[in-house]
Amino acid sequence: MKLPFIFAKRFVAGESFTESIPKAKELNNKNLKLTLDLLGENVEDRKTASDTVDSYIRLLDGIKENNLDSSISIKITMMGLDIDHDFCRENLFRLLDVAQAHDQFVRIDMEGSDYTQVTLDIFKEAHEKYRGHIGTVIQSMLYRSVNDINELAEMNADIRLVKGAYKEPANIAHQNMPDIRAAFKEQAKVLLEKTSFPRFGTHDDELIDWLKTYTTDNNIPRESFEFQMLYGLREDTMVQLTEEGYRTRIYVPFGTDWLPYFTRRLAERKENIWFVLSTMFKK
Ligand SMILES: Cc1cc2nc3c(=O)[nH]c(=O)nc-3n(C[C@H](O)[C@H](O)[C@H](O)COP(=O)(O)OP(=O)(O)OC[C@H]3O[C@@H](n4cnc5c(N)ncnc54)[C@H](O)[C@@H]3O)c2cc1C
Repeated sequence: MKLPFIFAKRFVAGESFTESIPKAKELNNKNLKLTLDLLGENVEDRKTASDTVDSYIRLLDGIKENNLDSSISIKITMMGLDIDHDFCRENLFRLLDVAQAHDQFVRIDMEGSDYTQVTLDIFKEAHEKYRGHIGTVIQSMLYRSVNDINELAEMNADIRLVKGAYKEPANIAHQNMPDIRAAFKEQAKVLLEKTSFPRFGTHDDELIDWLKTYTTDNNIPRESFEFQMLYGLREDTMVQLTEEGYRTRIYVPFGTDWLPYFTRRLAERKENIWFVLSTMFKK
């Protein structure tokens, strides 16, 4: 049984791009930049993977046609990673050809740890070929991220640092919040020192306040890094950060395949369950 969309609408802008455009424009009008994300993961057949690339290309076109200030985020398991790595890389490069030709930006979201190495391998190739149009994500909770961050920072890669949304085992990932936050701060320092424009995806006041203090103390200008948050969460904080002179971006997911994303948001924070319920009962 499919849950009705009303459950997801707190975190998902619409079930189609067209449906999401008014929300996207509203956010842009508040001086918030966007990352649009067509929801979905783990495509199992070649036709669906190729169709997904076409949909991503239409999304890039739609962003231009509607004058939206938005990049896109993608999941490479939607481009056929589980089927064949070369096929997936070709699909990604087909999308990046368009992004490069139109001067647009594509970020490869990071999925569960089974995909970390292959995602970074494909990313590094893409970074060489499409520099300035491609970025990826590092999850501070993974022990390996200490090394990954150093390597990517040396390449001046465009990185969004997050805690990590997937449940990972204790032998490869920090399990408690103080350790995850400490790892986030150490990795953030490397990105701020070595890369041109790091992005930080978090709603956590402790990390936001730390980033503000650390950058001020180290004379790092407010316009040289970006705060990112998810659609439906802490929009007022994002507006305030923008007014304070920080760069900001909201990640705006849309599409019919919203259940896995929605489930991760509920699992993350029990308050999110109340958010969902309150939205459902609001007219
Ligand atoms: C833009 C963006 C992109 C992301 N991309 C990826 C990705 O590619 N791969 C991936 O694995 N994960 C991704 N994530 C998810 C990320 O890994 C975390 O799972 C998610 O952001 C929750 O961690 P948090 O730091 O935001 O705060 P949490 O760990 O959920 O919360 C910590 C504390 O922050 C405060 N807080 C949190 N939310 C709120 C709120 N709504 N209002 C008030 N206070 C709050 C509370 O004090 C809370 O106790 C992304 C997140 C963002 C923001």
